[in-house]
Amino acid sequence: MNSLTPASLQELVSCLSDYDPQALPVAQAQKIIQEFVTPIHAVEKLALRQALGRVLAEDIISAINVPAHDNSAMDGYALRSSCLPASGDLILKIIGTAYAGRAFAGTVALGECVRIMTGAVMPEQCDTVIPQELTANASESQVTIPFGKVKKGDNRRFKGEDLALGKIALSKGKILRPAELGLLASLGVAEVPVQRRLRVAFFSTGDELRSLGDPLEEGCVYDSNRYTLYGMLERLGCEMLDMGVIKDDPVSLKAAFQSACENADAIITSGGVSVGAADYTKQIMSELGDVAFWTIGMRPGRPMAFGKIHSNGSSAYLFGLPGNPVAVMVTFYFFARNALLHMMGATSPVLTLVPAKSLAPIRKRAGRTEYQRGILSIASDGSLQVAITGSQGSGILRSMSEANCMVVLHDDQGNIAAGDKVEVLLFEGLI
Ligand code: AMP
Ligand code: MG
Repeated sequence: MNSLTPASLQELVSCLSDYDPQALPVAQAQKIIQEFVTPIHAVEKLALRQALGRVLAEDIISAINVPAHDNSAMDGYALRSSCLPASGDLILKIIGTAYAGRAFAGTVALGECVRIMTGAVMPEQCDTVIPQELTANASESQVTIPFGKVKKGDNRRFKGEDLALGKIALSKGKILRPAELGLLASLGVAEVPVQRRLRVAFFSTGDELRSLGDPLEEGCVYDSNRYTLYGMLERLGCEMLDMGVIKDDPVSLKAAFQSACENADAIITSGGVSVGAADYTKQIMSELGDVAFWTIGMRPGRPMAFGKIHSNGSSAYLFGLPGNPVAVMVTFYFFARNALLHMMGATSPVLTLVPAKSLAPIRKRAGRTEYQRGILSIASDGSLQVAITGSQGSGILRSMSEANCMVVLHDDQGNIAAGDKVEVLLFEGLI
């Protein structure tokens, strides 16, 4: 926790002159959450492959130059640019071959060249490579360099141009994707310091919820939120503690929160935080710590609890998400996800919104953020266009499944006309 971070959520929100927990704008809720959560500091060393998806815990300084030598980017002939004539073709004598991994040992004089393969070390006197396909009349002993096909420095890769010795190759906080695994391998790094996995406990609350395998009595629903949460947390690389469905009973709820708090860094619950909820969830949450209950200016997902709870000397951040299945996903993506990434020590938890043209009018009330489920496609002119999926009810999970993006309609936007620009968040990217 840095010295600027207030000790409690109450202190943090008391600094905000316009803080109204009953009408909290999305951006303000996001800001409060982001300022309140702090990264874990626990490093483990993993073999390179195991580090995929994890957060780098220390800067990686390059101990070598990559590439280690100037080398050729093409199969062709290495030559001295000083012998390129001002006009006319040039005939060069071939005095040897440089292979990748087997350098040419001799000296290249003016009027001479060396046949060279991609990745082979440049002979010391040469500064330029002409690709094989641009040459003419090549034989074992000589080759013609047609005028104007090559200029000084072409197709020469420089020592250290990828990663320079002594420089930071990867910064702490980077999430390790396939490119980073390859980059670390190119440096010869076999073990990587990463942050330990974030432990996230989650459970569902509600007497009407049934777990898979249980009979579904009248008025009951299967608990789907634990499965969407599982999927979203798995993709973030969290270690999960699935605590099942907790009945709306103060003793079980308190025990669940305490156990979650003692065993996890963060707790995610769904249900029981709405304004008129006739259950004990909110009461227990506030008994156990520093928790704010918000009505956020958004749709879906208005009610949310956020804070930090304590039990037997342990503490954990708490995200009390609403119960409705779509609201759970929306609040997870727009509030919990960034916070969890921040706790994991990741440095770039920014969600990128992409502009697209709305294909149809969308009803929207100004003064709140609305998240509509959309299908983004490419128009015949190559531009991006979006249509919302049918019914947008907060309990209709099908709308999420049919969608490939979320249309984010900001506070200041009112009704959208067909053809208007909107912003979308794509669900899938290259990961
Ligand atoms: P609540 O926020 O507890 O008032 O719940 C709002 C709505 O979401 C109710 O219709 C609940 O039945 C439903 N709901 C709550 N939790 C879940 C869950 N885990 N899975 C599916 N639906 C849920
Ligand atoms: Mg409920």
